[in-house]
Amino acid sequence: MMKLFSTRSILSTAIFAGLLGKPAYADDAKLATIALIKSTITAESVRSDVAELSSDEMGGRFFRSPFAEKSAKWIQAQFELIGVAPGAASDSFRQPVDKNPETGPNIIATYPGRAEGFIIVSSHYDHLRPKRTGEDKIFNGADDNASGVAGTLAVARAIKACAKAGDGAGCTIIFIAFNGEEAGLLGSSAYTKSPTVPLGEIRGLFNMDMISRGPPRQIFIDGGKVGEPVVAALKKANESIGLKLRLDEHPDWLDRSDQGPFLAKKVPAVLFSVEDHEDYHQVSDQVEKIDASLAAEVAQLVALAAINMSREPFTPRAEAPKPLKVAEPVKIAEPAKTEPTKPDPAIP
Ligand SMILES: [Zn+2]
Repeated sequence: MMKLFSTRSILSTAIFAGLLGKPAYADDAKLATIALIKSTITAESVRSDVAELSSDEMGGRFFRSPFAEKSAKWIQAQFELIGVAPGAASDSFRQPVDKNPETGPNIIATYPGRAEGFIIVSSHYDHLRPKRTGEDKIFNGADDNASGVAGTLAVARAIKACAKAGDGAGCTIIFIAFNGEEAGLLGSSAYTKSPTVPLGEIRGLFNMDMISRGPPRQIFIDGGKVGEPVVAALKKANESIGLKLRLDEHPDWLDRSDQGPFLAKKVPAVLFSVEDHEDYHQVSDQVEKIDASLAAEVAQLVALAAINMSREPFTPRAEAPKPLKVAEPVKIAEPAKTEPTKPDPAIP
């Protein structure tokens, strides 16, 4: 997550969802599918992905460095292993973030569905430039945000597994690992400027940024007014996961990660995050400190909510009309001819 300098307001209403709940849609994932999601997304698999991506070999994943490219290649290789298709233009996983050849790309994968619309599951993979001095110079970024990328990969695995079991997603699911988040939401801004699908056809975006620290089984979800449809899907899915969801307590986070550019374009989107901790943006943000069970359960919740949401009826939103490039010259009507008024006799 990007650094924030202002103070934040703290409300504290925790909403604890029960384990039992009646599905509101006949079309929701079956109980066997929920069990499959839980057995596919494990703390062990999440920890193993976080360990790889936050290792010293990845050098801290600074967005404009060979380490960004190395991380991007590793993420693409995972998507290929999982068996999801390239999701950027011209059969590629890579979407350029800017014109600098040192800047790593966004990595985009997709799993096709038949129903209308798209759902995006995202996270950023970049972190920080190494320190110049000190014994440990590398910012490993295990929680920020190897955890979110591990969550995204885990959701992709679960979506594939559910489809194989014959109870998969309705619409297409897109998986994005953004670059340049720490440098000012560069990757997500590049995406919303050149989206791979019409923004009005995105049903919702689930963005995970720092999902593996803090009190057990607790996660903050922020989406504001625009994010409400995604929050509703999450509340319902959580009846089967049982996380302690803390909703909309951090309105100042809405622009602090990659959901920001989407919310600005009225795409329903939410951020999953924990509060800043003692290792936030420190070299000590390492895999040994993460709660892999929390990250796994967040990913389970995203997978289930995405599958349920992908089967609901959906009508694309009208996108804001583009302003005309050149304003048409406006013809000014000739004033109606009137009789010249007679001089006021009172004026000499
Ligand atoms: Zn960060």
